[in-house]
Amino acid sequence: MEVYKFGGASVSNANAVKNLVSIIQNTHKNNLLIVISAMGKMTNKLEELTNAYIFGQDNTYDLLEEIKAYHFIILNELFDDHSHPVFNDIANTFVEIEWLLDEEPNDAPDYIYDQIVSIGEILSTKIVAAYLNKEGISSTWVDARNFIKTDNSYKEGKVDWKKTAVEIEKHLVPLLEKSIAITQGFIGSTSENFTTTLGREGSDYSAAIFSSCLDAAALTIWKDVPGVLNADPKWFAKTERIPQLSYHDAIELTYYGATVIHPKTIKPLQNKNIPLYVRSFLDPAGEGTVINNGNNPLPVASFIFKVNQVLISIFPKDFSFIIEENLSDIFSLFHKHKVKVNTMLNSAISFSVSVDNDTEKIKNLIEDLSILYKVKYNNGLELVTIRYYNQETIERVTVDKDILLEVKSRHTCQIVMKDKGNIE
Ligand code: ASP
Ligand code: MG
Repeated sequence: MEVYKFGGASVSNANAVKNLVSIIQNTHKNNLLIVISAMGKMTNKLEELTNAYIFGQDNTYDLLEEIKAYHFIILNELFDDHSHPVFNDIANTFVEIEWLLDEEPNDAPDYIYDQIVSIGEILSTKIVAAYLNKEGISSTWVDARNFIKTDNSYKEGKVDWKKTAVEIEKHLVPLLEKSIAITQGFIGSTSENFTTTLGREGSDYSAAIFSSCLDAAALTIWKDVPGVLNADPKWFAKTERIPQLSYHDAIELTYYGATVIHPKTIKPLQNKNIPLYVRSFLDPAGEGTVINNGNNPLPVASFIFKVNQVLISIFPKDFSFIIEENLSDIFSLFHKHKVKVNTMLNSAISFSVSVDNDTEKIKNLIEDLSILYKVKYNNGLELVTIRYYNQETIERVTVDKDILLEVKSRHTCQIVMKDKGNIE
């Protein structure tokens, strides 16, 4: 029993869907669960639609039409026979959204968000399942909401692992003994069966939950890169594929911001010792990366860049030391404003952190901190994290940069920096 996960880029148009189907054909496995995200950038579009509806914008129905057109263009390319039942099925899925949009937006925004945005995955999986069947690969469409059970935290549903495991064991395991199944990433449901989502880019996490509860032999995430690379090709002209990576290093890299896999994906796999393969849907014969229990250090230093950072420095007003009480007070304010600390350093009379510049959140946080502390901040900064650093790698990334903060542990070095001469 194995699990495959395909993201939005791997189903962004008709040719991509055909490519996905050929991957399934070639690696033909019977006991396979395929977890799929919304097509292309449809989740962003559905977010726009949700906002337009909530704020009563004029373009609400235009956005809906745009989303519809996108899916029907793909359908028309995949199916010559327009009387195929999938056309009706997709049309009906949109009717449900139309009903919702015709009502006043009186429900909580996060609840509305989940009801609308979740259809991206419903649509993509219905289309892919129908096309697989048309191409002679018999497969069953299953609704992930019957399996992934969450609490009522809309937009960031917390998984109820016990209930989820029971449903999967009872109803999915027997089905997978007979057939390939296609299901959605990213979505789940509450105990009252209202749709929830697990947070943006959560399909990898869904695939890990399914893999864990199914005791899968492996999870493969199909991406548009040849595997896990030692840096994002956006930053470096030359990158290297890492053939094997430990769960530990994978968790560290994703925690610091490597976007190749969702950070929550690793833990459920590690707990059950399920290997995670990252492979390219553009080059399915390529070796990719395996993430498993090995404990070899990475063969090369890895770099993770985050831009648009704010460095916040906090000082007690009376020049007293930063002591435990201050720290717990400061951390509780970060927690209250849901601001994630990317790196931090404290000295006798100051505490500095680098955070993503989420303007509104940061403004409120600084206001709150300023009640008890003196606060200074610098924005427009870059944070680079180097895993398995050495002096050469540090020099390489800091050419023409002014360094504002440098934090080193045994294997990881983090540097907050700005282009030379640009410090405000
Ligand atoms: N479609 C969702 C998103 O774009 C989930 C995912 O792609 O993982 O956030
Ligand atoms: Mg997506």
